[in-house]
Amino acid sequence: VTRYVVVGGGIIGLATARALLNAEPDAEVTVLEKESSLAQHQTGRNSGVIHSGIYYAPGSAKASMCRAGAASITAFAEAHAIPVVATGKLIVATSDAELPALDALLERGLANGIPVTRIGPQQAREHEPFVSCVAALWVESTAITDYTAVCWALADEIRAAGATITTRATVTGFAHRVSETVVESTAGPMPADVVINCAGLQADRIADADTAADDGVVGSRIVPFRGEYFELRPERAHLVKGLIYPVPDPEFPFLGVHLTRMVDGTVHAGPNAVLALAREGYDWRTIQPRDVADVLRFRGFWQLARRNLRPGLMEVSRSLSRKRFAASLARLVPGITAADLTPSRAGVRAQALKRDGGLVDDFLIQRRGRNVHVLNAPSPAATSSLEIGKHIAELATADSH
Ligand SMILES: Cc1cc2nc3c(=O)[nH]c(=O)nc-3n(C[C@H](O)[C@H](O)[C@H](O)COP(=O)(O)OP(=O)(O)OC[C@H]3O[C@@H](n4cnc5c(N)ncnc54)[C@H](O)[C@@H]3O)c2cc1C
Repeated sequence: VTRYVVVGGGIIGLATARALLNAEPDAEVTVLEKESSLAQHQTGRNSGVIHSGIYYAPGSAKASMCRAGAASITAFAEAHAIPVVATGKLIVATSDAELPALDALLERGLANGIPVTRIGPQQAREHEPFVSCVAALWVESTAITDYTAVCWALADEIRAAGATITTRATVTGFAHRVSETVVESTAGPMPADVVINCAGLQADRIADADTAADDGVVGSRIVPFRGEYFELRPERAHLVKGLIYPVPDPEFPFLGVHLTRMVDGTVHAGPNAVLALAREGYDWRTIQPRDVADVLRFRGFWQLARRNLRPGLMEVSRSLSRKRFAASLARLVPGITAADLTPSRAGVRAQALKRDGGLVDDFLIQRRGRNVHVLNAPSPAATSSLEIGKHIAELATADSH
């Protein structure tokens, strides 16, 4: 019987535990989560979108796993009575200058096999009566769900299949023996045949601690980018029916501040993207000196900062001014003002950055020795989670077949 220890109780860790038990029903699977509850970080603080898969480079893991994952997560949610609302999504060009990028996105979507249509302003207003645009893409298959509820259902399922989930268990290191790895945590030592690192914002540090693998050096580092959200006041929520997104800046890794109707009917606006001063820092007041020092010591950060100085400073000024934030939203839906916005929960993205300042674009999952490390699983990893879990289980169980 193989003993698997999964580090991290976010959607990737839980989906991985499920896939391991599907592949090896007799396996001993333990999930160690440092918080007192599951899904407290990225998974519980995202936009709740089931992405269609139009944005990602054809042939990438993101493109294929997002497309397959949208179908599998929808089926899973529906089977567990978790709400899925097929809102569709409008991506709007607000000036002629954005049309080339809109058309490039259309082509990419079609290359990825996603049903997407280019429409004019009038048709766009049939979907979203208050939107303003010169042209738009309509993506019918985009939907919304509640990823925290998905995690609870995953947890129930894996417990029923024999897994143990231990919360308040912070993994602090590993001791390597010839035939096993002892996982050291605040819940005590735990021997494992295979360790799977799904630690999200801490994934690079957990990978570093697994020194038995290669030279122990992880080339990429996690750089935390906070995304702040506002909520539209209930009396203004009628301005948005579903999802309204800008055309993403091709130079920038994030999708741009958008308007998202959540499954509870509230409309969220965001996320922006500012450097977080703590990996789990959900506001400007939270500063973790070790996390800041890690960023400042990392060559890749300075390369990125040099190349993105202007947009980076714009993001910071928009973070500090609700008026500027509202102005970005008003480009999509004129009439939205700062008075319509109330602050909402922020999230921090775990984005891996290379030493040369380039972002690790695709999902990055590596088997090193006996263990598997998820080194980059940013958006659309929630959408793709069941496929990522399956892939990890294949990597992790490769020896036993
Ligand atoms: C603002 C924002 C918006 C997003 N929007 C979307 C979206 O609409 N659709 C989509 O598909 N994706 C979206 N994403 C991406 C998606 O949320 C993530 O890709 C996904 O949640 C990653 O899951 P995870 O399990 O890897 O990470 P996490 O949810 O962060 O889980 C990692 C877990 O590991 C635990 N951990 C860390 N260190 C240790 C340790 N030493 N010991 C024990 N446990 C540890 C943490 O406490 C945490 O619970 C968004 C992300 C953000 C931040």
